[in-house]
Amino acid sequence: MQPLDETVDLLRRYLMIDTTNPPGNEIAGARFLADVLARDGIDSETIEAAPGRASLRARLPGDGSLGGIVLHHHIDVVYADRRYWTVDPFGGVIADGYLYGRGAIDMKSTGILHLAALLALKRAHVPLKRDLVLLATADEEAGSEFGAQFVANRRRDWLAGAEYAISELGGIQTHSGLTAPLAAIVISEKTGLPLTLTARGEPGHGSMPWPDTAPNRLVRALHRLLEAERPVRVLPEVQEFFSRMAGLMPSGLGTGYDDLALGSRIATPVLVWASTPEREAALRRLPPPALVPMATGVQTLGSPADQVWLPLGRAEPRRLLAALAHANAW
Ligand SMILES: [Zn+2]
Repeated sequence: MQPLDETVDLLRRYLMIDTTNPPGNEIAGARFLADVLARDGIDSETIEAAPGRASLRARLPGDGSLGGIVLHHHIDVVYADRRYWTVDPFGGVIADGYLYGRGAIDMKSTGILHLAALLALKRAHVPLKRDLVLLATADEEAGSEFGAQFVANRRRDWLAGAEYAISELGGIQTHSGLTAPLAAIVISEKTGLPLTLTARGEPGHGSMPWPDTAPNRLVRALHRLLEAERPVRVLPEVQEFFSRMAGLMPSGLGTGYDDLALGSRIATPVLVWASTPEREAALRRLPPPALVPMATGVQTLGSPADQVWLPLGRAEPRRLLAALAHANAW
């Protein structure tokens, strides 16, 4: 099989393994990777942080003259609601020149490219200065406790001697309208704040107007969240990122990026570039809350309303909770 065909075939088969997290069941993905590696004589080790929550590590040894490179991906994927898919998300479907599947982008494709690189180097007997470590971890989509966190806590030896890691984000942009390639690295990640809100109301009969039912109060509380002020807050690292990028922008277009806080106050139009959702996310503590109803159904008046999970920016909960704490404002 040609290398490209082989790589596509490997990705198809990897996508057909359902590693939806929760529950994850990453052991199935780890076994698949281990089998592929073993066929080319590459040993691997798998550990389970909990039953089924497996991570895998394999290594092509270098001569030790330089530090190792870790090629990292996560095995788990997020939930796919089949009602909204035109193909089976775990069917490995190829149609119209595209390969479809949950995890095709995030991020089994990266994992298979890492794997293909290992196989190619091994088969070509390329002498390596650096160890090349393939690391596949569980549980990235739900906190990493059973994946990267577990490896960092319990199996640091898996990363011994490593100097660089290539993983999910960062990279070199060559097509973003800048005057030179922009290489970005990830130094931190924004985290969520899961909240469960429960509203309670007075019992009564559903046929009568009843303004303080639990659902009504919950809707009013959620409205306050959506309306909450989300001021710009520029961290030094974020400012440095935009300043450096400004130096690569076509002449004149970089104006204003050297003082984002000032620019946002005077609403200068040059900052339109910064107002894409991805870039704006770096400038505001609190994204609009993503509401994930955990239960739905007709409420009996007076019963607790639907509980709602709110992933919010962690940095900003106090002011928000203070607003919510005025229960009578609901
Ligand atoms: Zn991912």
